[in-house]
Amino acid sequence: MSECVLCNEVITNPVCTDCVENEIAAWLYEVRPKLVEELRKKSEEINLDYGETRCILCNNHISICTFCYTNHVFEWLKIRVPELIREFRTFFDFNYFFPT
Ligand SMILES: [Zn+2]
Ligand SMILES: [Zn+2]
Repeated sequence: MSECVLCNEVITNPVCTDCVENEIAAWLYEVRPKLVEELRKKSEEINLDYGETRCILCNNHISICTFCYTNHVFEWLKIRVPELIREFRTFFDFNYFFPT
């Protein structure tokens, strides 16, 4: 187990940012297809692929936890499409990550 390079917490949910990104992209294709490309760019900002932990889905190296990644996307969505925030939080069931 390695630690997230951003929050220094041990990564307990070993899913890489690429895999989470694909989930979010699939959702955006449904609701706001135009934003998918922007999501890709946003993701690259914090997409680092080193670290000892490997993704349970695609075997990529993980250096950022799903919390930091979804929070990064959340901050962006909050400004771009505030009307989708509620759905984003429901859909990804990450409510416990965010202050209410
Ligand atoms: Zn983190
Ligand atoms: Zn993965």
